[in-house]
Amino acid sequence: MFPLTHVYICQKVFNHLNNQLILGSTFPDTVIENPLDYHQTHTMGRSFLNYVEKHDPSIKDFALGVLIHGIEPRGVDYYCDERYPGCERGFCFKKAKPLIKEVVERCLIPEEYGWWKAHNFVEMGIELKISDENHQLVKMLRDAYRDFPLIRHVSKTLGNFFEMDEEDIYRGFVKFSRYLGETPLTAQSLAEKFEQQMDSRHKVCIDKQASAKLIQKCRDAIEGDFGEFVRYFLNNLPNFE
Ligand SMILES: [Zn+2]
Repeated sequence: MFPLTHVYICQKVFNHLNNQLILGSTFPDTVIENPLDYHQTHTMGRSFLNYVEKHDPSIKDFALGVLIHGIEPRGVDYYCDERYPGCERGFCFKKAKPLIKEVVERCLIPEEYGWWKAHNFVEMGIELKISDENHQLVKMLRDAYRDFPLIRHVSKTLGNFFEMDEEDIYRGFVKFSRYLGETPLTAQSLAEKFEQQMDSRHKVCIDKQASAKLIQKCRDAIEGDFGEFVRYFLNNLPNFE
């Protein structure tokens, strides 16, 4: 899922939000800007929570946010990407299946990326819906990434936990903040970022206008089902007591 969606679900789980929960629930995806890999940050939840309880209990909320995000124990990304009832993969792949043809033919995305990228469109549709309905959340996410003393603090603890240079983690947070919008998101702004990502990661040129239209379509298509996904997740939370 995209950052705002992680923050939104985190708020549903804990019934409140603070900068630690916001930074924690989005930290695992900062791997795109630091030397850690996807597997490390999406399976660290339990051991990192144990570590924090022992060595740095003042950032327990940050560790809880990390745990809720991952795939092991089963957090948001597990149900979104890996497994969801009625699909051989996760919720976003389930919703993406009928869109593969459109993603390939209209948005000019190579066929081998079809299902994978279609699932990103579903994620962007969800992100757009949450942004539309929770303007305050966009600002809170932005503000949390400006809480530099806290980012410094969690980077130091993460550096000790992973036995790596805390500077690399700190810089990862700062660089990741470039992906966060200043204002509520639009289908166009999401399509633009997606276009840049497809260009830099895959050297693929997509149709931006068609992509924006499809993001809007996804936003409308997930209207009811996303609520069902959130309820399912709240009923199947990983144990964090
Ligand atoms: Zn993730």
